[in-house]
Amino acid sequence: MSADAASLQVPPSPAVLAPCACDPARSRGRRFTEPEAPTRTAFQRDRDRIIHSTAFRRLVYKTQVFLNHEGDLFRTRLTHSLEVAQLGRSIARSLRLNEDLVEAIALAHDLGHTPFGHAGQDALNASMRAWATRQGSESDDQAGFEHNLQSLRVVDALEERYPAFDGLNLCFETREGILKHCSAANARRLMAQDPSGVARRFIEGGSPSLEAQLCNLADEIAYNAHDIDDGVRSGLLTLQQLEEVPLFDRYRRRALAAHPQLAGRRLLFESIRLMLSDQVYDVIDTTRDRLAAAGVDDVEAVRSRAPLVAFSATMREESQVLKTFLLRNLYRHPRVVETTGRARQVVADLFETYMQRPDELPEAHGRHPNRARAVADYIAGMTDRFAIREHERLCGAVLFP
Ligand code: MG
Repeated sequence: MSADAASLQVPPSPAVLAPCACDPARSRGRRFTEPEAPTRTAFQRDRDRIIHSTAFRRLVYKTQVFLNHEGDLFRTRLTHSLEVAQLGRSIARSLRLNEDLVEAIALAHDLGHTPFGHAGQDALNASMRAWATRQGSESDDQAGFEHNLQSLRVVDALEERYPAFDGLNLCFETREGILKHCSAANARRLMAQDPSGVARRFIEGGSPSLEAQLCNLADEIAYNAHDIDDGVRSGLLTLQQLEEVPLFDRYRRRALAAHPQLAGRRLLFESIRLMLSDQVYDVIDTTRDRLAAAGVDDVEAVRSRAPLVAFSATMREESQVLKTFLLRNLYRHPRVVETTGRARQVVADLFETYMQRPDELPEAHGRHPNRARAVADYIAGMTDRFAIREHERLCGAVLFP
């Protein structure tokens, strides 16, 4: 350590951290032991490692709902992740939870997404499973592709930035938050490979930290709000249509009551802004009550019981109605479905092509003992536009002129 670094000190964690919050000084640690950083806590350091990763930079060219080339103003995986981090930090500060950890989890939560959003994931999963069935060698569950598991794989294995280990060597608490869902079979496989126990709760029950629970809800709040915005911007949704959604309509009326002349874009933005604020306040109030009632006073008590971060019953119901509306009117809109159909084709064609012509893979992927997994890792890492270009080059078809 240089003299300068030695004179620096990690600022103490906020004295105001709630007893049930994750304290970096009491982290379950990293998979590979490393000296502490002189000026940052373990969770700040995780956040910084994520921001400097290759996978994080790729998020800017990956689809959230609308394909990256469909317009410059639609959300991408990157801006979505930043919005989740903003909402998550805001809630965390009010509940005295660890903001740095929330930010790290939020920025990493979508690192494993394929190009073209869920359509890309579904296609890659189908290709992997079909291949495994043809081989008869792997169990179905191990053979598939799931973006959540892939996010963990990116930070544990695929990033190549450090001399001594693969991946980013993040803290247990950050990895715990990234692994949001996991099948029991995948959990058993992870447990066999990784003694940290990051997948244990999917076998033995229990919950992740409050910071991880918070990121799940912040994710939902973020995409519900920004998909309304992007939906109207794209012309696939109208303000009039949104009047049938009670949650949105309440804030539209409230915005109009305060500003009777408001119309068009400003009315949309003001309604969304009011809705976002109210959902944040709802989570804070509900969770504060639930924490008090549960009497949890450390992270282990949080982990041993059902999730405590939640919407009120009314907000949960209303949020569900909005989700259903978006599913019916936006995610399944014929124009969206038509584009995602072509996106599926690109991913399926790329998978078959690389399986038959491994010489087309970059060298490191080509050497991997499990070719299907290497191909999936390579495709999953692609941005939308790289996948489209690569598909044109290898398959000669122009699906996105
Ligand atoms: Mg997300």
